[in-house]
Amino acid sequence: MNVTTTYQLLDGKRAAKAVRERIAEEVAAMKREGGRAPHLAAVLVGDDGASRTYVASKVKACEEVGFRSTLITRPAATTEVELLDLVRALNHDPELDGFIVQLPLPSHIDEEHVTLAIDPRKDVDGFHPDNIGRMVLGLPGFLPATPAGIVELLRHYSIETAGKHCVVIGRSHIVGTPMSILMSRNSYPGNCTVTLTHSRTKYLAAITRQADILIPAIGKAEFVTGDMVKDGAVVVDVGIHRIPDASKKSGFRLVGDVKFDEVAPKCSWISPVPGGVGPMTITSLLLNTLKAAKG
Ligand code: NAD
Repeated sequence: MNVTTTYQLLDGKRAAKAVRERIAEEVAAMKREGGRAPHLAAVLVGDDGASRTYVASKVKACEEVGFRSTLITRPAATTEVELLDLVRALNHDPELDGFIVQLPLPSHIDEEHVTLAIDPRKDVDGFHPDNIGRMVLGLPGFLPATPAGIVELLRHYSIETAGKHCVVIGRSHIVGTPMSILMSRNSYPGNCTVTLTHSRTKYLAAITRQADILIPAIGKAEFVTGDMVKDGAVVVDVGIHRIPDASKKSGFRLVGDVKFDEVAPKCSWISPVPGGVGPMTITSLLLNTLKAAKG
């Protein structure tokens, strides 16, 4: 069996640092020229621990590149009407370039209603149908943060994509579906032949074994095992899960959708969890906010 034993890491922390340094330089120049810093607001409803951690990282990243950031917290009992009122107020705030409403929302709030209420010009998460439509047509707009971050990660490491078979696992609106669209675009990274797989796909392993580039976004811890991956594949692991681990001070460790120890030795490149896609997602948010600020 021809097994690749020396894989290279698609190090999201390193790639994110490089992009964020460029953003910070641009922000410093904007301020020197008398402009104001880009301003991002994050809305957090309820007290979900993981969401709180994600939002805190986003706010910290804003500060590091010189953005202004505002964290707006609301209790879990907030009604949909109250949240929609807040969204409308943020839409009309002239001091604010972009904002995100952290998902998931409490079950009594319809996420679609909230997404649709966000002004597409401030939709720096890229979830509004206007921005999704623009992405499909290749028009300027805000790309969804996670798929756009993966594209940046592949670009940073000059991963060859043209003519490759890219298999995406998962068809969510925020990751799998837009990822499949970006990888099939006539651009770099792109020009792949894409297979989008999902929970109803038959013979999944037979398909993933054909992937030159495999992008699992399933939401199931360590789902992708060594036997599902072709030798020399590029694997970008989108999943992120907390697994109980008594040996850690926090009581948990983070793993992805990929069983890293089994899969990595077969890969030419693989992204780790943590430190892979996560930092790139936040970087995309910063890039989108910078774009929003420039108008
Ligand atoms: P989701 O639950 O909305 O979608 C999961 C998809 O996986 C579905 O489309 C489903 O059809 C597919 N699926 C489920 N079981 C399957 C199976 N057995 N075989 C094939 N496909 C199957 O999840 P999501 O929002 O797309 O997120 C996916 C993962 O990525 C989660 O772990 C999430 O936490 C993580 N995530 C990470 C980041 C980041 O920045 N690192 C950002 C977004 C999401």
